[in-house]
Amino acid sequence: MTANYAFDTQKVNAGYDPADHNYAVSPPIYQTTAYDFKDVEYAKKLFSFEEAGNLYTRIGNPTVSVLEQRVAALDGAAAAIAVGSGMAAVSYALLNVAEGGGRILTSPYLYGGSVDSFKKLYPKFGIHFDYAENIHRPEKLEAEIRPDTKAIYVESISNPSAALLDIGKIAEVAHRHGIPLIVDNTVATPYLYRPFEHGADIVVYSATKGLSGHGNIIAGLVLESGKFNWKSEKFPQFAEAYYTLRDTVTDEHRTFLQVFPETPFTARIRLVYLNFFGAALGPFDAYLALIGLETLSERLSKQVSNAARVAGWLQARKDDVEWVRYPSLGGSPYRALAERDFPKGAGGILAFGFRGSDKQREAFLDAVRLFHYHVNIGDARSLIVDSPNNTHGELEKHEKDLADIPLNLIRLSLGLEDPEDLIADLEQAFEAASAGLKIAV
Ligand SMILES: *Cc1c(COP(=O)(O)O)cnc(C)c1O
Repeated sequence: MTANYAFDTQKVNAGYDPADHNYAVSPPIYQTTAYDFKDVEYAKKLFSFEEAGNLYTRIGNPTVSVLEQRVAALDGAAAAIAVGSGMAAVSYALLNVAEGGGRILTSPYLYGGSVDSFKKLYPKFGIHFDYAENIHRPEKLEAEIRPDTKAIYVESISNPSAALLDIGKIAEVAHRHGIPLIVDNTVATPYLYRPFEHGADIVVYSATKGLSGHGNIIAGLVLESGKFNWKSEKFPQFAEAYYTLRDTVTDEHRTFLQVFPETPFTARIRLVYLNFFGAALGPFDAYLALIGLETLSERLSKQVSNAARVAGWLQARKDDVEWVRYPSLGGSPYRALAERDFPKGAGGILAFGFRGSDKQREAFLDAVRLFHYHVNIGDARSLIVDSPNNTHGELEKHEKDLADIPLNLIRLSLGLEDPEDLIADLEQAFEAASAGLKIAV
């Protein structure tokens, strides 16, 4: 048990005891599809989830399990489940909460893939999204909750505009209405922000990003606080008798609330969504995520300092930059929230408005040499992208306005390089763009 240790101790130890794994120091990669059952009695118990154990890697694997337990420890969660991507984590969490139909109250500041799927796919499953008008005025949010609203869904630091919200106040509103608050904590990671401490009930991650931090895997996680009361007529799925949960002696079909009273949400994702929809995380990718986690604090603090340094430099460069969105900057509407809720910094991504023509903006993007031009964030390398044209390209003009994504927005995700090299790279690219040059990379 490592529960009493501090965050940095947990990030290299939690969820793993070498004594259980032939004293291997680094968690072994259990590259196996299935696990021998020992005997028929044991098989019966495994299949009815009376006994915890490994069955089939689609629903559980020892390497993946270390990752689940480690991230659960870092976030102070009752349980976590790892899945094959951040999108799978978002989808499974939302389907699990609003199964059978209903509404989700959400914020306009969201990852592009989330917005797209909310608009195009979920309505076909009877799940509809309302974009809150009062997300910055939680005292008025109440009025936007409808009788069939099943959850509130937000991002702690939004992608790409780094918007912050008063998560604590939003959680209070959700709880007054008996619904959970789901927080996508991808950009912040548990190093910068622990949503459960602010009242969140469910946390989702794209572990593809800062959590693993090396731009080499696709992975996601769903975590639960263990505190939300799912015994409600809004959520009958947790009180339904389920064949898989039968008692092997009496053959009684039990419910998720009976068998997993502390952690029904992630248990149900595992046995229903992961089991049937099948976006399982492979053990090798789980291993890479674990290695990435070992340096989470060191990476994030360097990314925060690089982001703050570059944001300040951009803000002073008025001839090339119209505005900069970074929460801790002077003049940011989120500065007070950043100081209160993000004492270690408000993330490693920032956005700025390029001053100049579309052609110059394109020339600028073509001229950067050190920044990588692509759609990831949270990598060890610094990344640059023109979000309105790609990561958030599917949003219509009014949706971009609502989401605070002006058409000249450029997003940076700061890596671990020397900040002076990054600044020099941006500087030479601004100069190339204003000279009308187009440098081939
Ligand atoms: C990238 C991202 C996702 C989706 O994650 P994938 O691992 O790419 O599927 C979800 N939410 C946020 C905030 C993201 O940045």
